[in-house]
Amino acid sequence: MRIVRFTPPPASQLGRDPLFGVLESDDLISVISGDPIYQGVSKTGATVALSDVKLLAPVIPRSKVLCIGKNYADHAAEMNSEVPDEPIIFIKPNTSVIGPNDTIVWPAMSDRVDYEAELAIVIGRVCKEVPIERVKDVIFGYTLANDVTARNLQKKDGQWTRAKGFDTFCPLGPWIDTDFEPGNQAISATLNGEVKQSATLNEMIFKIPQIINFVTQVMTLLPGDVILTGTPAGIGPMPEGAQITVAIAGLGQLTNTLSHRG
Ligand code: MG
Repeated sequence: MRIVRFTPPPASQLGRDPLFGVLESDDLISVISGDPIYQGVSKTGATVALSDVKLLAPVIPRSKVLCIGKNYADHAAEMNSEVPDEPIIFIKPNTSVIGPNDTIVWPAMSDRVDYEAELAIVIGRVCKEVPIERVKDVIFGYTLANDVTARNLQKKDGQWTRAKGFDTFCPLGPWIDTDFEPGNQAISATLNGEVKQSATLNEMIFKIPQIINFVTQVMTLLPGDVILTGTPAGIGPMPEGAQITVAIAGLGQLTNTLSHRG
């Protein structure tokens, strides 16, 4: 099942507030009541065409977006880093989240804004100290993410809160797929039509069960929390006005545009 969140068309009977829906086919959404992460999937009977709505980020994290750093060996190498012996975790504020086709805003403070293609986990329930064998129980589904990074500030600051925390620096979408099973699917980033990152999900150093087991030994995860699972090699800067697409085979693709320099 693919869950979308969207703004209804202006002239529809669906009101003006964002709604959730289930994507039934390439162009048909069944509207659901409430937020499926908290209230389950309950269809209202109303439908709307995908082509008539504006898609939004499919989840609004109420507490946090967790991220895993250096989780692909070839990316750690390109950053002149060792492969970590346990997951490196950091947080992007939930105010950094934007949806598909939204604009990433180039901050005036930065002279280099990078893309990072990543698989994102959406958490479905409150959980703490999750054993490896129970990790599936706490996952609501998966979506795509771009861990946008002001690379010069990441180097300058020595820690990553500013570099990765600007508003608009966490594109998510276009939907949450509740059936996706990460394996050897291809993951890529395409910048202005040129493939820049190309890897498979099974190249992750720490896989999904290890990540959730590890982070929940540190902190409680809440429904709607999102975990970005790291990026493969090939990261790089985006030029002003760039179009950037993150794609994962069998999951979808997420396209955003970078603004002109602030
Ligand atoms: Mg990253």
